[in-house]
Amino acid sequence: MTSALSAKHLHDEAAAYRWVEARVWPNGRVCPHCGVVDDSGALKGKSTRIGVYKCYSCRKPFTVKVGTIFESSHVKLHIWLQAMHIMASSKKGFSSNQFARVLGVDLKTAWFMSHRIRLAMAPSGSLPPLGGEGKVVEVDETYHGKVEHPAEFRKDTGAALKAPRRGRHRGPANKRPIVTLVERGGSARTFHVAEANVATVAKIVRDNVDRKSKLHTDASSLYLTVGKEFAEHGRVEHSMGEYVRYEGGAAIHNNSAEAYFSVFKRGMKGVYQHCKEKHLHRYLAEFDFRHNTRVGLGVDDTTRADKLLAGVVGKRLTYQTTDRPA
Ligand SMILES: [Zn+2]
Repeated sequence: MTSALSAKHLHDEAAAYRWVEARVWPNGRVCPHCGVVDDSGALKGKSTRIGVYKCYSCRKPFTVKVGTIFESSHVKLHIWLQAMHIMASSKKGFSSNQFARVLGVDLKTAWFMSHRIRLAMAPSGSLPPLGGEGKVVEVDETYHGKVEHPAEFRKDTGAALKAPRRGRHRGPANKRPIVTLVERGGSARTFHVAEANVATVAKIVRDNVDRKSKLHTDASSLYLTVGKEFAEHGRVEHSMGEYVRYEGGAAIHNNSAEAYFSVFKRGMKGVYQHCKEKHLHRYLAEFDFRHNTRVGLGVDDTTRADKLLAGVVGKRLTYQTTDRPA
């Protein structure tokens, strides 16, 4: 068996460009300035950088990095690909300190790269609902880390944009609430919310789960009302020592959601240690990405790398909170 790390695009800059170009431009080279397809040529000459093209239409030069998370970064593309490979394949994450040592970049650069990779891991646009007829979607909430301030949350879903203000929290005092939806044998979608209350949780469930699904939760009263809108609402009574219940031959539990939280918490405690509240949603996107591209779903390393690379496009401009080139 060949080491996954021996792939040429992880070591050779020209190969890295070819590899990224083939995936970002599957239907012809697109000029990021004017949008024209396949009307450009490679700039040749001793002083020319790898991967620079000139658009014959608008006359401007460009590389495949323009308009992606790699834009305006001085880090070599093959180093970026190494970082992405490591991040995508490390189940509990990979810290900026580890990246700095392994990749030979400074800590600030490593931190910036990590956040940009998380951005590539985050879904873009609206996603189809989880579940469906005959499928089970587990919902669960947990708390992680201390609440900071000030707060800013999305009006529609209640999901966090920035750290919340003090004094508006329920649940365990001063802890950050997280809600996850896990389709059994499928994908997870996880949210950092201002408060894990009935309205916020119901909105997230309604917006993300197909009504024909069976909803499985613990006995929390958070899910009572929204649960009625689904094909079935199965609840397990953890406080009574009940973790799986069988009804009509079907198992009712939320073990998949708990397993998700278990990996997340081990990663946050063992690898990341410190995470500002305003960045928490980015870490959740990272753990969601790995959960949703895991081997158990039949996703191999190449497909996972391709999925991650598909996420690098169009993210550059939306990335404002840490907007400093690495
Ligand atoms: Zn152009």
